[in-house]
Amino acid sequence: MLDSLGRDIDYIRISITDRCNLRCRYCMPEEGVQPLSHCDVLRYEELLRLTRAAVRIGVRNVKVTGGEPLARKGCIDFLRELKSLPGIEHVTITTNGVLLESALADLVQMKIDGVNISLDSLSGETYRHITRQDAFPAVWRAIVKAVEAGLRVKVNCVPIAGLNDMEIVDFALLTEDMPIDVRFIEFMPSGVGESLEGISGEEILGRLTEAYPDLIQDTRRRGFGPARYFKSSKMRGSIGIIDALGSCFCPGCNRVRLTSDGFLKLCLFHDKGLDLREMLRSGADDNEIEAAITEAIFRKPERYTLGGITGPDMSIKNMSQIGG
Ligand code: SAM
Ligand code: SF4
Repeated sequence: MLDSLGRDIDYIRISITDRCNLRCRYCMPEEGVQPLSHCDVLRYEELLRLTRAAVRIGVRNVKVTGGEPLARKGCIDFLRELKSLPGIEHVTITTNGVLLESALADLVQMKIDGVNISLDSLSGETYRHITRQDAFPAVWRAIVKAVEAGLRVKVNCVPIAGLNDMEIVDFALLTEDMPIDVRFIEFMPSGVGESLEGISGEEILGRLTEAYPDLIQDTRRRGFGPARYFKSSKMRGSIGIIDALGSCFCPGCNRVRLTSDGFLKLCLFHDKGLDLREMLRSGADDNEIEAAITEAIFRKPERYTLGGITGPDMSIKNMSQIGG
């Protein structure tokens, strides 16, 4: 459907859990965050009911996220249900990859449309430092096997100064060996890891252009998100840069987010939204839910409010609950 600014909202990111088996320094504090109680998290039937309503008003593409989605029991069955919903064109998942290897056969069998895997270092030691867990071998194995199994794989990396930014070109090299996209996500202030310093999209691009002088923009559509893609003749896949703070994606924004406790978030950087759990659990019927979602999307904020404005919107709060 179109919002009040004429933007076509056809993509929803659904966070199915706020829990995670890693503690990435830029996303979660070491002790974790107070998890939602199980009864506050939407059941899969509730998530499916909301997804059906979203599809009726024009949503076509769904990304399942977390916390760590594969850490929630039943995630694979939920993905299968989404894949079979009439009207849905693409179902993808974003995962830290720790539990991915044993899920691969099911993902291939259901013909999942893409798997985004977060990986912030190619060194086991640095990986452990950033995520506070010793899971690099499991994630790496899962990436290699996912590619071998023919899945469409994107590797997501958040470059942080002094931690992993010296690996930017090493990450790009992965696209020479494997037909994958490697995407660099600019670090965003989330109230966690405040001492960390991200690397701007422009800086990342500069370093990559030095390593690949023939790097040019790749304009083929490669997903539903705001990444800008680049390609060199040496690469089998592409490089993506997601610089939410540097570029303003807002005029072309196509998405809304559903948090695991059922809040429809209209913009990553705004608190505005709609409490769908309250509606579901107070007996609203499908027409009422559909009308409320339509009305909420219509008033999606025009743009994010960083860019010099200080205040509560400077922090996007709890990335692990929103799902990125
Ligand atoms: N656990 C899954 C994963 O890591 O892919 C899904 C949830 S995670 C919140 C989704 C994405 O958000 C990941 O790619 C992660 O790197 C990114 N992310 C988390 N905190 C971030 C931050 N402060 N700035 C930029 N990206 C962030
Ligand atoms: Fe967990 Fe993903 Fe956040 Fe890392 S980025 S702590 S894997 S939710």
